[in-house]
Amino acid sequence: MLKDPSIPFFSGAVGLHEAREGLAARVRRIAESGRFVDGPAVAELEQAVSAYTEARYAVACNNASDALILMMKAAGIGAGDEVIVPAYTFLATASCVVHAGAEPVFADVLPDSYALDPDSVRAAIGPNTKAIMAVHLFHQAADLHTLREIAYEYGLDFFEDSAEAIGMRVGDTHAGLWGRAGVLSFFPTKTLGALGDAGMLITDDEQLAQRATHLRRPGSAGRGDGHTLTGMDSRCDELQAAVLLTRLRSLDADISRRAELSERYTARLAPLAPVVTTPARADAREPSNLVWYVYLIETERRDELVGFLQENGVGTETYYPRPLTAQPCFQGRPGTRVPVPVPVAEAAAERALALPLYPDLTEAQVDRVCDLVHEFHRGTRR
Ligand SMILES: *Cc1c(COP(=O)(O)O)cnc(C)c1O
Repeated sequence: MLKDPSIPFFSGAVGLHEAREGLAARVRRIAESGRFVDGPAVAELEQAVSAYTEARYAVACNNASDALILMMKAAGIGAGDEVIVPAYTFLATASCVVHAGAEPVFADVLPDSYALDPDSVRAAIGPNTKAIMAVHLFHQAADLHTLREIAYEYGLDFFEDSAEAIGMRVGDTHAGLWGRAGVLSFFPTKTLGALGDAGMLITDDEQLAQRATHLRRPGSAGRGDGHTLTGMDSRCDELQAAVLLTRLRSLDADISRRAELSERYTARLAPLAPVVTTPARADAREPSNLVWYVYLIETERRDELVGFLQENGVGTETYYPRPLTAQPCFQGRPGTRVPVPVPVAEAAAERALALPLYPDLTEAQVDRVCDLVHEFHRGTRR
């Protein structure tokens, strides 16, 4: 039997069609310049992202996981400190704390936003807590207003893992800039993706930006001063910066296209409620625009649905298959606390499924995925 053409979870074409000419010229210039790492294109990218996010400082590095580590170290988080992070997020949100010599402490998330639950955060604060790290997952922001207020009330630092949130503004402020600093990921699947790895730290804090800049090279502030810090080697390539500068021009159009496709998914999948739940908009003290990095549904027979879609040529991803509290690297860690129950994170890890979403996905492809989801659930409703 002939199968329909497959729909991958991620398309590597990344919408470069229109920009190819300009990009080819840039790549040629970089190749001829002999300057391949941390050069003028990277500086231009930092300025462009600064302008786009209105961050005073943007520090490019090799990926957002490194940017998170740089953020922790540059902020002075270290041995004996605890940082509260959500139990439901990408590993790097919590592993950066460990890399800085401190300990993550897990709190639960809210069902609609998948972001930190303020009540759970309050309950998780202990005598060694130094900071709270909010994460913006999938399509909407955490309740930054409430979370930052808790941080201030307890005298804690406030950070954001805004790796998924380029283009997201909460009130008038870009995600990542509500606290001391935030990060952006340019991993290929992200809303603004490179053709490889790249990431960035954004902040209005001059000292933090300077320290992060020193730490991303092997710890030198400039020529002749020796290694004043034990830094890491986390630089951004000129080629990735050139790709990102090119793609930044269509970022807002890409964000709109992702929203259009997401609305189409929701319109077609909503009739399957309550067996399948479509993404919700959570209450927050300060509203944010939705930036659809991932289109995430929840369903009870998630793993079976993954298999069914795969058989029919549709790629999916389970973000995230386990809560971090159930990851072996944290379970056995002395010092890593789980002071509160995390039932929402545990349920999400069992039920959540991301469907294909990228600007060059077509309406017909969205409809095909939705038809398959309907077909799978036929007979199981109510
Ligand atoms: C993608 C992502 C990261 C890490 O980004 P890389 O650039 O791949 O290192 C960190 N946190 C969250 C929430 C992410 O989605």
